[in-house]
Amino acid sequence: MRRRFAVTGGTGLRCKGWRQEGLLRLLENVLAVGEDPDNLVVYAALGKAARDWPAHDRIVATLRTMDEEDTLVVQSGKPIGLLRTHRRAPIVVMANCNMVGRWATAENFYEWEQRGLICWGGLTAGDWQYIGSQGVLQGTYEIFSRIAERHFRGSLARRFVLTAGLGGMGGAQPLAGRLAGAAILCVEIDEARIRKRLQTGQLDVAAADLDQALDAIRQAQAAGAARAVGLCGNAADVYPALVARGVVPDVVTDQTSAHDLLYGYVPSGFTLDAVRELRTADPQRLMAAATASIVRHVEAMLAFQRAGAIVFDNGNLIRTQAKAGGVANAFDIPIFTEAFLRPLFCRGIGPFRWIALSNDPADIRRIDDLVVELFPANRIVVNWIELARRHVPVEGLPARIAWLGHGERTALGLAVNRMVREGKLAAPVAFTRDHLDAGAMAHPNIMTERMRDGSDAIADWPLLNAMLNCASQADLVAIHSGGGGYSGFMTSAGATLIADGSAQADERIALALDNDTALGVMRYADAGYEDALDEAAAKALRHFGPGPP
Ligand code: NAD
Repeated sequence: MRRRFAVTGGTGLRCKGWRQEGLLRLLENVLAVGEDPDNLVVYAALGKAARDWPAHDRIVATLRTMDEEDTLVVQSGKPIGLLRTHRRAPIVVMANCNMVGRWATAENFYEWEQRGLICWGGLTAGDWQYIGSQGVLQGTYEIFSRIAERHFRGSLARRFVLTAGLGGMGGAQPLAGRLAGAAILCVEIDEARIRKRLQTGQLDVAAADLDQALDAIRQAQAAGAARAVGLCGNAADVYPALVARGVVPDVVTDQTSAHDLLYGYVPSGFTLDAVRELRTADPQRLMAAATASIVRHVEAMLAFQRAGAIVFDNGNLIRTQAKAGGVANAFDIPIFTEAFLRPLFCRGIGPFRWIALSNDPADIRRIDDLVVELFPANRIVVNWIELARRHVPVEGLPARIAWLGHGERTALGLAVNRMVREGKLAAPVAFTRDHLDAGAMAHPNIMTERMRDGSDAIADWPLLNAMLNCASQADLVAIHSGGGGYSGFMTSAGATLIADGSAQADERIALALDNDTALGVMRYADAGYEDALDEAAAKALRHFGPGPP
């Protein structure tokens, strides 16, 4: 059967209530905007919305018929059963891809995945929170902006940014670079992904070869024009070729799926078809070739760094893979979280999002106005909303992301719920956030690298976060751990709320959004960060302080 992947809008209910309907629309949405929906893959090479099609269909059928007093239990993308809870309990709870410590290896993951026992939910795929490449757009833009402030007197105009990967998340890079004013070159091995980003307007132009790409970049730099140029090629070839020519970009990063040697990173010298075949025919050879290419790729990034470029890892585990392949100093490249975003996380500020379940972009425009009205002094958010409303295309259900902190998210959530109640929006709105948020993720090579107290690999925080979200009445709560190449590297938690205009939604929003960010501030305060201790004091959080109790 050929499936259609479309979003549902309007006010018609197919379920017994908006909480179930909202979650169903979000599940449809992650497939509609996902990278390979026929295989249920949403992003990051293997991040899936459900274990398989029968599991997906059972989830859909259950959401359509279940009562509000029930909770649907999902284990690694497979619905296990319905349990009687109560109206204040989550509609869905999930645990995706959590393997016991010493067993949490990529080899076990692939074997159990093949046997249909497990699937990886990425961060926002398995719990239906993905909103297309916009989900990481502001984060990438803020990183570029911080680099501009620190190193380039506030602007990336006339600066050359080099990156690779135009997939689900990496596809945000060209627009983020352009919004920051840069001339950005994006290397991508799959021509179809370049075409897609041209069609959506995220890329301005595709170059036929490296010479043409460099010409386009140089022209944009000379004119001070923001421009995004795509180049079909392998980053493991293009980056070293630039080093050999003595070209030094101003900023270098990468967002290929380097975390996954089997399903993600394409080694140099292999066609996409050859890679597909080798996955089953000779996975060891494929993974060895991917590692060898990543080594060359990262060695080139280190060479750019030595020549003065600002180089950073954008959360794809490329340094870890390179180090395993023998690049002893791969971690000379800093991770984006520690380098640019930690001061925000200390204040509970992170990637919060909302999605118009009406499928009406006017709802997002009204909420844009509200955000600017509510937080006029928040320079980062006001600037972002102004940019986003002009430049961010609608993908699937209209959505918006904004980095908001403790108290701000709750204020916005309650104000939007009131607008739904008063009929000022066409339908309810879903609130969620990336798992990459202050209290919600342990990932010692990405989110929690070099924490001040050495607590990098301690996964208690996301587990506490999920439990607290259940206790605070979130509508969906999920605990995810890494799959594929991320196996054994991370644990994170996600939560979703449906603002349906009801008084119960007011209660859920106030509790869940407040407690979610409060725990985030406490996590960093506990690790001894002054910014977090200040924030905890300023917001009168009942935190007991770092060190022994
Ligand atoms: P994706 O699988 O959808 O896209 C990866 C892209 O890289 C594909 O288009 C692929 O063709 C391309 N690619 C692979 N090998 C290449 C090579 N050698 N040269 C050039 N192009 C190559 O993945 P995604 O969703 O875009 O995520 C990319 C990476 O970023 C993943 O590792 C993911 O986990 C990570 N990520 C980071 C953040 C963050 O907050 N920084 C957020 C989400 C994802």
